[in-house]
Amino acid sequence: MPEQPEFREVAHSGGQLVITVKVDAAGHRMYQLTWQHCRPVAAAVFAVYALPQGLVLCQMNLGGIGSGQDPPPIPGAYQVFIGSDSEGKFGRQCPACGGYWRSGLAAQFCPYCGIQASVIDFLTMAQRSYVEQYCAKMNEALRVDVDGEYVIDMDAVADAADAAITEKPAFYYAELSQQNRFTCKACGGFNDILGTFGYCTVCGTRNDLQELSDKTLPSIRDRINAGAQYEACVRDAVAAFDSFVGQYVKQLIQRVPLTPARKNRLENARFHNLQVVAAELRGTFDINILEGFDPTDIDFATLMFHRRHVYEHSGGEADEKYIADSGDSSVRLKQALRETVQSAHQIAGAVQKMASNLHRGFHEIIPTDGRPIQRHRQLPRGG
Ligand SMILES: [Zn+2]
Ligand SMILES: [Zn+2]
Repeated sequence: MPEQPEFREVAHSGGQLVITVKVDAAGHRMYQLTWQHCRPVAAAVFAVYALPQGLVLCQMNLGGIGSGQDPPPIPGAYQVFIGSDSEGKFGRQCPACGGYWRSGLAAQFCPYCGIQASVIDFLTMAQRSYVEQYCAKMNEALRVDVDGEYVIDMDAVADAADAAITEKPAFYYAELSQQNRFTCKACGGFNDILGTFGYCTVCGTRNDLQELSDKTLPSIRDRINAGAQYEACVRDAVAAFDSFVGQYVKQLIQRVPLTPARKNRLENARFHNLQVVAAELRGTFDINILEGFDPTDIDFATLMFHRRHVYEHSGGEADEKYIADSGDSSVRLKQALRETVQSAHQIAGAVQKMASNLHRGFHEIIPTDGRPIQRHRQLPRGG
């Protein structure tokens, strides 16, 4: 797939809402809403109920096979259709942290702070102002005394994304592509988020593990297989785990109640010494990153963590600190450390295993929504 440019305006998908107003003999006004879409772009739509003043009340079930539409929560509430962007996605904004992202129809977790909320809570400012404009148009249509059709023309809104058009229509809004578009491996949900790492908006699973397993480690293993500098590969594999731990610990600090002393210690912690990291995670959060390791694997991984420090800071030559901390008696002071294709692959494998343990332990504390994950597992796999 070609790289998608970051922060690109994604036009609205267009569509037209036709409000057909009928006035009966007794002077009662009735209206019918029809949403029509005929542009050759991906499009999705959801609906909400809003007060005539433009205040969103709740999401409305649009009905489908075997299910009817939800009745309005209070009489007189308007049905408002919210169309997707031209890639079939919706902009979302978190009421807690203010973060912006794009998703498909489903969204219940903020990718950045992880709070769980409804699609309504995640409406963007632009979508809320669109709802206000829409309700104003409805008010206008329902004030007249004659039959007629009123159109909210989102096709004009879609066309106005063209930068050459400076005069945007009143209903105008567009979405903005972000930096990491990923499909969650747990639930199949689409996410387009700022930065690289976050929670899946559909099921709440962190994407760090799939980023590590599908991108970071395979690229390191490709370098190892190509005979690249094994020392640099070891350094990068350990560094990848270091930043992986950093992301999870940051979330745990924010979301798990901790004493100020413990919080402060974790905030300032560096994850360079494997034994210290493992003890801290086990002692504070009951997460065992070394689960399934035998003692020789642990010794090996511990040694590689010490060596990473040498590769990063000592030009690859054993220094006193390395010899004292690691207890490595196979090298002399100033001797350049050497890795092999085996040791490089072995640490990549250990990093993968520790990361999986941490990910699993993390989600025992910070739960995901099992329903979309279950539905995704039951889908027939394409051959
Ligand atoms: Zn948030
Ligand atoms: Zn997911």
